[in-house]
Amino acid sequence: MTANATRVLVLNSGSSSLKYQLLDMGDARSDHDSGARRLAVGLVERIGEATSRLAHTPLGTGGATRETAGPIADHQAALKAVAEELAADGLGLDSPELAAIGHRVVHGGLKFTVPTVIDEAVLKEIERLVPVAPLHNPANIIGIRTARALRPDLPQVAVFDTAFHTTMPESAARYAIDVATADAHRIRRYGFHGTSHAYVSRRTAQLLGKAPEEVNVIVLHLGNGASASAVRGGRCVDTSMGLTPLEGLVMGTRSGDIDAAVTFHLKRVAGMSADEIDELLNKKSGLIGLCGDNDMREIRRRIDEGDERAALAFDIYVHRLKKYIGAYTAVLGKVDAVAFTAGVGENAAPVRAAAIAGLEELGMAVDASLNAVRSDEPRLISPEYARVAVAVVPTDEELEIAQQTYALVTA
Ligand code: AMP
Repeated sequence: MTANATRVLVLNSGSSSLKYQLLDMGDARSDHDSGARRLAVGLVERIGEATSRLAHTPLGTGGATRETAGPIADHQAALKAVAEELAADGLGLDSPELAAIGHRVVHGGLKFTVPTVIDEAVLKEIERLVPVAPLHNPANIIGIRTARALRPDLPQVAVFDTAFHTTMPESAARYAIDVATADAHRIRRYGFHGTSHAYVSRRTAQLLGKAPEEVNVIVLHLGNGASASAVRGGRCVDTSMGLTPLEGLVMGTRSGDIDAAVTFHLKRVAGMSADEIDELLNKKSGLIGLCGDNDMREIRRRIDEGDERAALAFDIYVHRLKKYIGAYTAVLGKVDAVAFTAGVGENAAPVRAAAIAGLEELGMAVDASLNAVRSDEPRLISPEYARVAVAVVPTDEELEIAQQTYALVTA
């Protein structure tokens, strides 16, 4: 690697999509306190269909977004198309300035607790985890193999969504089921969104002017998928997602916590298959199951028009959120901050207000005028007198992946 190799390409491969960002990690012109500057961002959607679409934005030059429509057969073709777009901006993947490629990998099991340089053995291990992450790891593996074929000489790093949660104690990570069965099938609580929880908990400490080791934070990552975590002194001690991302909070399309017996009941009484129940709980439940919409903007609009189903869905969503805030207050003992992040957490002031309402005895309150402020910056929304800081902290998983990747390859 040459001394001026300061760029990192971050790839997030889904089953039919490829999201990417190219960042310069040592750019003096950076407007970010991490020293990183985004040079280009983009997305390839509907890979494998006739209606594939690539949207590429060269942020470094301030150029407009370029959209290309037309069939993109597979991830290999998608990455090739991305490489061409980058090359058109003078940011080609063959540039000596490219230091590494960082890959988001959803499931790292118990083995991967830190970002890891990818070789064949690492790839095999990620493959071994496919049974516990059947929807995500295969797509991640395709992304890695494709990028390795394109630049075999370049360090490629896997940053795992589960890694931040590997510090959870056994008391939080184990389900209370037969130990032999659990161990034979690697059934335990792994947690997800770890890159976001890590970034947001650290950024929250920074907002309070403290080191991560000095603060206890409850992070509420509320996107279409949603999870909460309890972070003590920079280390995760509990999180709401489990073996899969189904457990925990009410989400856009997932039920979150549910009595496991509901699944046997659906099989025995409704005659549903395992796949049908999987689809019901992951895709047709949560907000969409409750009221037919999974977008919080739409739900708020309907509530404003007096829609009772939307109001009940909102109440169920907030009730679960409040339960987790209470539970994690008890787990942590002392809470310094509650941080809201991701699409809903960053934008939906009514969700934040409702989740914290009535928690004055826990030292938590929201100031209505601060809560109404719209901003992309981390900010406090609690009144000065509140014992616990309530904050909105925009997440940045790509930056976190780039930082972890760059730190590893320059160490
Ligand atoms: P994410 O998964 O983090 O991209 O979050 C996506 C979700 O954020 C959407 O499904 C919406 O429910 C929610 N969201 C995005 N923008 C807003 C907004 N301005 N107000 C309320 N909710 C929003």
